[in-house]
Amino acid sequence: MSNCIFCKIAQGESHKEFLFEDDRVVVFRDLYPQAPVHILAIPRAHFHSIKEVEDETLVGRLFTAAKKAAEKLGIKDYRMVINTGPQAGQSVFHLHLHLLGGRYMAWPPG
Ligand code: 5GP
Ligand code: ZN
Repeated sequence: MSNCIFCKIAQGESHKEFLFEDDRVVVFRDLYPQAPVHILAIPRAHFHSIKEVEDETLVGRLFTAAKKAAEKLGIKDYRMVINTGPQAGQSVFHLHLHLLGGRYMAWPPG
C-alpha cells in the first residue's frame, strides 16, 4: 500500500537497518521503544492485521524472524505480542509482531 509506513520500511525506502530479513519478512527496531529491546517483525506484503492472514507459514515465519533477531541481540527473555484492532492498541495497520525484552515485564499487561 503506497501510503503505509511499514510498506515503505519493508521496501527499504526509509533506510532502516534490518536486524533480520528474508524474502517474506523484515525485522527492525521500533521508533518509540517501550523496553531496552523493542523490535518489530513484519511481512513484506501488506496485511491490515493478523485477521487477514490465511497463510499459516507466514505467521510462523514472523515469529521465527523475531526469535532470530532476539538471539542476534543476545536477549534470552522476551515478550511477543500482536495488537489487533484499535481496542487492543493497534495503531499501525500493517501487521506487525512486537518483541520486547531487556527489562522486567508485569503480567497481566495494562
Ligand atoms: P501498534 O500500536 O500498532 O501495535 O504498534 C505500532 C508500533 O509502531 C509502535 O510501537 C510505534 O512506536 C511503531 N512505529 C510507528 N511508526 C513507526 C516508524 O515510522 N518506524 C518505526 N520503526 N516504528 C514505528
Ligand atoms: Zn503496509
